[in-house]
Amino acid sequence: MAESGNGAADELDLASRNEIFETTPPQEILRWISDTFAPDAVLTMSFQHEGVVIAHMLRDVAPDTPILFIDTGYHFPETLAYRDELVSRFGLPIKNLTSTMPRPEFIEKYGDDLHDRDPDLCCKINKVEPLQLALRGVRAWINGRRRDQAGTRAGMKIVERLQGDIVKVNPLANWTSKDTYEYMTRFDIPTHPLFEQGYASIGCFPCTRPILAGEDERAGRWAGRGKTECGLHTFLEPAEDEASADTSDATKAAPATKEPS
Ligand code: SF4
Repeated sequence: MAESGNGAADELDLASRNEIFETTPPQEILRWISDTFAPDAVLTMSFQHEGVVIAHMLRDVAPDTPILFIDTGYHFPETLAYRDELVSRFGLPIKNLTSTMPRPEFIEKYGDDLHDRDPDLCCKINKVEPLQLALRGVRAWINGRRRDQAGTRAGMKIVERLQGDIVKVNPLANWTSKDTYEYMTRFDIPTHPLFEQGYASIGCFPCTRPILAGEDERAGRWAGRGKTECGLHTFLEPAEDEASADTSDATKAAPATKEPS
């Protein structure tokens, strides 16, 4: 990937793009990203269903787009098996990221319960820092977040400009979980093995539980610890002009496209 920053981001008129993208199929958003940023675009995913859907779409639109998977060392065995199954079935160009701190050194320094004592530090070492390194030279960062996953994501735009001139792309921002499952059913994509057991959002095993009736999708993540995000989606702040813009743009835009295509 290029070593330069995203010099073109200022010229992209993302406000107009966001208005258009509210009614644009995700495949077309991904095509625009590839046309504009390849080879400096990546997808990050943890083999949750939205990431899987985007990876599946990219096979047709931009199959060379690297897919980054952060292997924290704490994933459920089911997640790793699901990853291997989908990589094999769809030929996904996956790249596994790991901490720069070897696991024996990590355990010796922090023990094997840092996730209980200081989950922010554990996420920083095992998730955020590996991604920070991998994003060097990246100009467009695609991910699978949806607005209705949690209240903290409700105002998310489809394309955002972040500090460092990275354009963050949320092509499924206006999808629902139903849209996701309809797409997976249509294309015969298997679901995560833990999904049927009540896990609606699946991260590391020490920090994930099934959700209860009426809870939002991410309620099973770091439950009871006052933590809602691992830091991957918060370590880069919005660029200054984005932060000061009217954040209600997304909700003022045209109605969302609900029919997955
Ligand atoms: S989700 Fe839990 S186990 Fe995984 S990196 Fe964060 S604190 Fe550690």
